[in-house]
Amino acid sequence: MEQHVYRFGADRTGADVTEGNASMKFMLGGKGANLAEMARLGLPVPGGFTVTCQTCMAYSNAGNVWPEGVLDEIKVALADMEERMGKRLGDADDPLLVSVRSGAPFSMPGMMDTVLNLGMNDESVQGLIAQTENPRFAWDSYRRFVQMFSNVVLGVDSDLFENALTEKRLVAGVRSDAELAEQDLRELVAEFKQIVSEHVDPEQYPEIVVDGKVVFPSDPMLQLRLAIQAVFGSWMNERAVLYRALNKIPDDLGTAVNVQSMVFGNKGDTSATGVAFTRNPASGAREFYGDFLVNAQGEDVVAGIRNTEPISDLKKIPALHEAGEELERIFGILEGHFRDMCDIEFTIEQGKLWMLQTRVGKRTATAALKIAIDMVEEGLITKEEAVKRIDPAQLDQLLHPQFDKTAQFDILAKGLNASPGAAVGEVVFSSDDAVARVNEGHKVVLVRWETNPDDLKGMTVAEGILTSHGGKTSHAAVIARGMGTPCVCGVETFRIDAGAKEVRIEGSDVILHEGDIISLDGTQGIVVLGAVPLTSAEITGDLDTMLSWADEIRLDETDGRAYHVRVNADNPADAELALDFGAEAIGLCRTEHMFLGDRKQIIQSFILSADEAVRQKALDDLLAVQTDDFVKMLRTMTGRDMVIRLLDPPLHEFLDDPRELEVEIARAEATGALSGKELEERQALLRRINGMTESNPMLGLRGVRLSIVYPDLPLMQVRAIATATAQLKRDGFDPRPEIMVPLVSITEEHVRVRAVIEQTLAEIAAEYDVELDIPIGTMVELPRACVVADQIAQYAEFFCFGTNDLTQTTFGFSRDDAESKFIPLYLHEKILPVNPFETIDPAVLELVKMAVDKGRSVNPDMHFGVCGEHGGDPASISGFFNVAGVNYVSCSPYRVPLARLAAAQAKLDARK
Ligand code: PEP
Ligand code: MG
Repeated sequence: MEQHVYRFGADRTGADVTEGNASMKFMLGGKGANLAEMARLGLPVPGGFTVTCQTCMAYSNAGNVWPEGVLDEIKVALADMEERMGKRLGDADDPLLVSVRSGAPFSMPGMMDTVLNLGMNDESVQGLIAQTENPRFAWDSYRRFVQMFSNVVLGVDSDLFENALTEKRLVAGVRSDAELAEQDLRELVAEFKQIVSEHVDPEQYPEIVVDGKVVFPSDPMLQLRLAIQAVFGSWMNERAVLYRALNKIPDDLGTAVNVQSMVFGNKGDTSATGVAFTRNPASGAREFYGDFLVNAQGEDVVAGIRNTEPISDLKKIPALHEAGEELERIFGILEGHFRDMCDIEFTIEQGKLWMLQTRVGKRTATAALKIAIDMVEEGLITKEEAVKRIDPAQLDQLLHPQFDKTAQFDILAKGLNASPGAAVGEVVFSSDDAVARVNEGHKVVLVRWETNPDDLKGMTVAEGILTSHGGKTSHAAVIARGMGTPCVCGVETFRIDAGAKEVRIEGSDVILHEGDIISLDGTQGIVVLGAVPLTSAEITGDLDTMLSWADEIRLDETDGRAYHVRVNADNPADAELALDFGAEAIGLCRTEHMFLGDRKQIIQSFILSADEAVRQKALDDLLAVQTDDFVKMLRTMTGRDMVIRLLDPPLHEFLDDPRELEVEIARAEATGALSGKELEERQALLRRINGMTESNPMLGLRGVRLSIVYPDLPLMQVRAIATATAQLKRDGFDPRPEIMVPLVSITEEHVRVRAVIEQTLAEIAAEYDVELDIPIGTMVELPRACVVADQIAQYAEFFCFGTNDLTQTTFGFSRDDAESKFIPLYLHEKILPVNPFETIDPAVLELVKMAVDKGRSVNPDMHFGVCGEHGGDPASISGFFNVAGVNYVSCSPYRVPLARLAAAQAKLDARK
């Protein structure tokens, strides 16, 4: 039969009767499992029992009905506990008092309910007075219990009790609760009970109705049952549900309930209570850290009513010296046992130390690195364990500025957390204004409806980028992440009027104008009016050490394949930054990013001109600039692979915005600002641009289709790559380009373009008299390509998966719109567990795996990579390596360190 209740602690002879242990956190919750473990270690844990998480779920799933037999099990456990403690709940001579605390499998600090001092009633208060000879303490305990129970269990507004307390202090002429006399507390107990009678709905709590009237429950067993029910119920309270959603904790785990004998830190100057860490959780330094209060209960420490004292002073107080020594000894035992930094709650009752909780402590990214490295040096853990312990997402924090954690601010708007880090600057509405303001020495945040390649200059100089439209793989998001610029996108409440240079914010009176200061946090996706203080990136030697350990693990080939990490970079500065961050090669160079700025004119004349000579001149000019680009990039990357993708985006992305052109024409027609010939030219241009407009550009003339429709373009690009390679080889460098054909879905597309590439490579090789052994691969980013991967593989040296487009086309979700339009609702409604543009969806991963398997089956030497945004997401990285079997992931420069760590962790998982 299923056991619902587990005992912990010792019996009266001191013999341990604990039934659980630390490995049982999914049954006993983190707190219950660790209380059991501490008891097993012989540490002083007040006795008690834990009701399992499964009981909570069974109770909740049955519509708040107790599963059969559980209440009897609790009665038996309680009787046993009373026997062990030598005290009885509600006893008029020597009462047992208990705490009832929640404890889920994962820490959810402050999210669920707790009741202390349970067991107080009119009889037991007398027993407590007799035992402590301290009536004030007894009545204060009773007052605290009625207050806490009524609020937590019966849902009475806590303000009603606080108001009564305030009133009592006023009448008594004292400033703090601690100064209230026994008589005041006695009266308060009665008044609190009266509040309960008046404010609790009898229909909701029929068990506490006597003669039609709500009466505060005095029966300790009833108190206990109601308190446990309340803790069960708090699993589903709003803040707990939200916390779980934010921290990706499943809703079906449930919380355990720990019923534990109370110990009191407020029994005079030989008593105290406190919280402590075995190392400094902020810096990681090897020192005891925490604070305590003499003569206080746990809630006083948390409430911050009195100033706490540092834990290092505990031993200095003679009455507490011994307990302090004991505590330090226990710190050592716990670290040695859990092999990690522990976070502890303790109480000293009349000189005797009691351990109330321990868990592996939360820490900052800096501390996490230092603690893990120190513990390896101390011989406590291995390098592999150290690497496993670092959260890659937390590591990301170290590389970007953040909002100062102590800063106070109101959130003006929320959007998608598109690119991490925080920024402060003046609002500007156009790329040109951004450049102009920055040239005048100002810092700016570029605010746009969405960005396009035209905005690049402004994006480059901006501290941060905000868009009101677009998702996490929108242009703004991808570019911002690539540049390491903080970005919040899809801020839908921003009604931007770029012409009037103002933003109205839905649901707020604030109107932003050009020059107003805003702050944004791209890690959290929030926007704040005014300047929030920032803390800068903390790069330490420890980060380097940890990443070099990660590299040792992921590149080790003795246990199988190496897990490689490349970078998505399309300019030498990014490439250099990525090399500093430890990228091994370039996994994706998006060549369209090389056609921006002044070069846009050249490509525009190629696309729009009907004159063959003009088009040829444009191609020649493009060839010159592209060759120069590739020389620079390949030189930076000498000795390392660099995957260069042929032109991918829809051509009209390079053209002027037809709406702006229409406005210009209409204005010129009205004002005569343009000559007749000029006007005609503008009108013809507008016709040609309109002629190229597609209703679904993401599914239109882009990728390999461009190379087929405009064969001169790939010819020019391959010529540039080959020429740059030949020149660099001649100069003694070791350029290693790989050419990639994007958006292939039909084998014949690849075959045709490959023929053009091979022919051009042969021509340049002959011209320069060098060997040009340049691999040619396919970018696999459409479901059809995955299905026919074995056919395509016959003509490709490598596949690189564009998982942004593959996700878009597998789901049929627009990558520009879905994340701001309906994915949030899908996540909230649990239709989707995670955003598929962020973490690879299992079905999309299955397609990747299928293509890898098919590719390897015809060409065992092929290599496989991933260069979509998922290449920088830890959960996806593990799937790519361990499920799909790829050789590398490629991500934006700032994500490279995170990817190195995640790849090592994936490798360690695979070793198991
Ligand atoms: C992709 O589709 O995953 C990809 C990397 O290409 P892009 O984002 O440039 O379309
Ligand atoms: Mg793509």
